[in-house]
Amino acid sequence: MPPRWNCGSRRCAANAPHDRRCVSWLTDIARPDIRALKAYEHAQWQPGLVRLHANELPWRASGDGSIAGLNRYPEPHPHELTAALASFYGVAPEMLLAGRGSDELIDLLIRSYCRAGQDKLIVCPPTFGMYAVAARIQGAQVLEVPLLADAGWGIDRAGLLERCDPLVRLIFLCSPNNPTGNRLDRQAILALARELEGRTLLVIDEAYVEFSATPSLLSDIAERPGVVLLRTLSKAHGLAGARCGALIGHPDVVTLLRKVIQPYAITQLTIEAVFRSLEPCPLEQARSRIAMLIAERRRVAAALGATRGVLRVWPSEANFLLAEFQDAAAVLQRAHAAGLLLRDMRHAPGLGRALRISIGSQEQNDRLLWCLQ
Ligand code: PMP
Repeated sequence: MPPRWNCGSRRCAANAPHDRRCVSWLTDIARPDIRALKAYEHAQWQPGLVRLHANELPWRASGDGSIAGLNRYPEPHPHELTAALASFYGVAPEMLLAGRGSDELIDLLIRSYCRAGQDKLIVCPPTFGMYAVAARIQGAQVLEVPLLADAGWGIDRAGLLERCDPLVRLIFLCSPNNPTGNRLDRQAILALARELEGRTLLVIDEAYVEFSATPSLLSDIAERPGVVLLRTLSKAHGLAGARCGALIGHPDVVTLLRKVIQPYAITQLTIEAVFRSLEPCPLEQARSRIAMLIAERRRVAAALGATRGVLRVWPSEANFLLAEFQDAAAVLQRAHAAGLLLRDMRHAPGLGRALRISIGSQEQNDRLLWCLQ
């Protein structure tokens, strides 16, 4: 049963069921020019008719093995794909926007909510770098409220509330967090969302949630219209090359961002790959691979923890480990000589000796452990 909404707007009667005509605070805080923007009118989508209205070629390119034909534009806003993803995540279709990876959805949120040179957003380092990069491209000011290392990289709720002035439109939290690997406390997130209601959107990036023992916040968002979730098919579903992510949140946020996303953003090849990945067999395979990966994560973490020169392995609920080394530069070199690339995190605040290591296949993990002996 799709969640029902109380939009949370001060203009809504208290506890009134969600009224789609009501202009909620979720759009009030967006850029006024985006609110007023009329979306591009794309060519009609009527797949049953011969397409003489979109200046396409009538023949397929040679080697085109797609189902629909790459000579044709894909569906401008892919309804069936949206419906399939919404059903997969257990939400109503109007609550979901598919994008070219969660990267695009991060960018859309910032472009839609932050006026260049005026509005701000908050990130909690060490965390995924794209939030700040997308903000700087848009000209939005980035405020930092670091995660608390001593609290296992938990959020600094008081610090966030203190920095959250009226120009802060978005707060990005990543759970499980990249690169530290920990889940953020659900109750802390929900309490924060309650406190920010009416003024700031809380964006929870759940790119790695499938690798975690604790469930997604999906079941909480109906009660918290100011919470927006980001999910991706790049990680647990093995479709990083297809570029498909999903923003899940209140329909007002989705409707706003839909005006900004390019028509035809999701390519036909991606649409077909996503449909295939949502079939029962691939989903079953994804589940068993997640279990395998979690078992390997446990094994590698234990082995790394017992390796000389490893100072610390942070507990992880993602498909990578963050480890601190006596000599991280030497580890990078040795791994490289063994044909392995690791992610250098030494530039990140509080991570002066840390590397991030993706969990690979058993053979790849063995190779890593062997080269560190
Ligand atoms: N969020 C986080 C936390 C990530 O680590 C990444 C990719 N490394 C992304 C989002 C981007 O994912 P996508 O492939 O869906 O753009």
